[in-house]
Amino acid sequence: MKALMFEHVTKTYKVGRGFVNALDDVSFEIESEKVTVVLGPSGSGKSTLLNLMGGMDRPSEGKITVFGSNIAKLSEYALTEYRRKKIGFVFQFYNLIPSLNALENVSIVQKMNNQSFDPKEMINDVGLGKRSRYFPSELSGGELQRLSIARALCKNPDILLCDEPTGALDSMTGQTILKLMVKMARKYKKTVIIVTHNASIALCADSVIHLKDGKIESIEQNKKPLTVD
Ligand code: ADP
Ligand code: ADP
Repeated sequence: MKALMFEHVTKTYKVGRGFVNALDDVSFEIESEKVTVVLGPSGSGKSTLLNLMGGMDRPSEGKITVFGSNIAKLSEYALTEYRRKKIGFVFQFYNLIPSLNALENVSIVQKMNNQSFDPKEMINDVGLGKRSRYFPSELSGGELQRLSIARALCKNPDILLCDEPTGALDSMTGQTILKLMVKMARKYKKTVIIVTHNASIALCADSVIHLKDGKIESIEQNKKPLTVD
């Protein structure tokens, strides 16, 4: 099944007296349970795309279908529910709560969603079992991103949406985080979408969507399926 479909999606912003098409007639499909990277330079439309996929914004034209339903047509309320329940967000700068320890940071999402996973198991799965009582200030960048992944997955979202998830990490740590994402995607059967300007991240994906000037330049499938040990 397709996790996500964009059909002729255009997003237009008004700038002064003119307009700019941040996305211009964009169509693509994302397979479920795969890791997809959206790759493009600054200004190519990545944030706009992320905001549309995450239900933070609506297209000017076109259709966005997520697991069979057109989210462009949802009411404000339904779109908020979509964002809260169906999408797990992973950010460049983690967005963790400093006053809560690791386990508490993951457990709070459980209270908001009755279909969630066990926070303790999630923390173990991302390799932080021994650090569950640590506060964010006591964790390294890589550990903070592990924790963010645990938090985002704990609510059992349909799609994990990652915005420059390795942008604040050195490249070695970044690679480890990407491997972890692939492992978690496989284990929990999640669709993972990573938006980035960093071409080296594309190596870890099942497919790569290249974005330029608001248009899709190409879509590559990785012929060698990613495996995790
Ligand atoms: P990226 O995330 O790849 O840097 P963006 O989606 O932020 O790209 O931007 C794509 C284009 O749309 C750019 O030309 C940008 O200036 C323009 N743009 C994005 N958001 C707005 C906005 N809120 N108002 C006007 N122009 C915007
Ligand atoms: P909840 O909405 O249930 O608190 P999260 O803890 O995942 O769920 O929070 C994600 C929230 O952050 C979303 O509701 C959304 O409004 C906001 N958000 C997510 N991604 C972005 C983004 N790239 N830019 C701005 N706001 C975002």
